[in-house]
Amino acid sequence: MRYRLARNRRSKLRCAGLLLTLLLLGARAERVEAWGPHAEITKAALAVLPERARWEELLGEENLTALIAYSWLPDQQGEDLGSFYADDYLLIPAHPRYPPHGMPGVRATYPAYFRRALQALRTETPVNACRQLGPLIHLVEDSGAPPHARPNTPHHSELENWIRTDAITIAGYRPRLLGRTDDEALTALQRRMDRLIAFAAERAERALPLVSAPKPNRAQVEPILLEAALECARVVADLLHTLFTLGLAPQPEGASLSGTVTAAEIPLRNDHGARIVLLGTEFGTLAVTAEEMPAAGWRGAYHLRNLPEGTYRVLAYRTGSRPQVSDPITLVAGKTAHLDFTLPSTEPAGNLVENPDVTLSYLQEGAPDRWRRVQVGGKRVWQSAPARVKSGVSYRLGAALKDPAARVHFRFLLRVMKREWNATLVSLPPGETAPAEKRFAPNILHSAVQVLVETDKPLAEAIDRVWVVPEVE
Ligand SMILES: [Zn+2]
Repeated sequence: MRYRLARNRRSKLRCAGLLLTLLLLGARAERVEAWGPHAEITKAALAVLPERARWEELLGEENLTALIAYSWLPDQQGEDLGSFYADDYLLIPAHPRYPPHGMPGVRATYPAYFRRALQALRTETPVNACRQLGPLIHLVEDSGAPPHARPNTPHHSELENWIRTDAITIAGYRPRLLGRTDDEALTALQRRMDRLIAFAAERAERALPLVSAPKPNRAQVEPILLEAALECARVVADLLHTLFTLGLAPQPEGASLSGTVTAAEIPLRNDHGARIVLLGTEFGTLAVTAEEMPAAGWRGAYHLRNLPEGTYRVLAYRTGSRPQVSDPITLVAGKTAHLDFTLPSTEPAGNLVENPDVTLSYLQEGAPDRWRRVQVGGKRVWQSAPARVKSGVSYRLGAALKDPAARVHFRFLLRVMKREWNATLVSLPPGETAPAEKRFAPNILHSAVQVLVETDKPLAEAIDRVWVVPEVE
């Protein structure tokens, strides 16, 4: 595929500016607020699972190892991760908003993500099930990060990064089963978490005077934070042992649903999955790219099993295509029903904005999926999920409005771990309901674009649709 390149107007001066920004970024990246050792904690927990070989056989070694990467998922909120969006697993009907990462809010998030993780192990394919474990693992680990466990702790970054990650190992630890039923295990998890949070908050108390000293000695802080990381790893080991034991146990015979989704191409991002949702239930999954692709567009396959018998309406959606809802389908225990979807392209084709015409709201009744209400400069704004962009490619940015008073802006920015930098705003002319369009070519400091709709009205009353389309030939 060839890209129409934007005119290269970079002067030496701009290059110097870019370099300076990159240097500043490097300096600021140190201060990103994230418990440093997520990956090492998950890895240490996986290493002590007593039945690891069995889980590898049932889930695949690759998927099990990928839990190390998936344990970052909530820190990647809104991000496009190639074959899926972090939000495909982070936003669920039982928790349709981004979860808080610290005390006190994080404590209330465990039940929704715990039950969703068990459901994924029982009903979805291994690749989907393992991704769906990511949010819970992350939130459990964050709860045991000293500055997350003790609210409003200063020196946040030092208290979660002054740690020797190579020392995180819990060899010899024997994970405990938290319960024999889902409810029993969840109650025990809550208690285990309360102890972990108290343990980590106490480490924050001990480490705080050391990091606040005029010349803090990192070597004195490291062993204290290591204690918290090791306790985190023990809890994650208990959690994984319990999830796999309960979630991968043989189930009473349920109903299965399989099918394909054929959809339009997403230019430059055609490896993405398609969402499958059993409307009005917690059940759903992601169709992943099929081995045999059509000559044009995209095809994916999905499979759900162990579903309760019943009659369902099934929604299929993929970026760049219009959503479709099936006729009611009745699922019977012991049988696999087949349901294929062919999704028509968005208008214009190749639109990277998710839910660009506000037709989807399956996560929360009345709230448009993948849009958030935010305040920008004292104004009420609807903000779309960010779409990844490529520098040097020209993008068509457009909108057709229902309310001529609504303003539409396109915000190009660099996103790293929930942080945003270097925003460039492209605004459409005000006062038009007829489709309006502009063009913009992002530079190397723009990784994503977000659509902002300035309006006091519900989004569906303000816009007919918006679009961001890369100009590819
Ligand atoms: Zn976090």
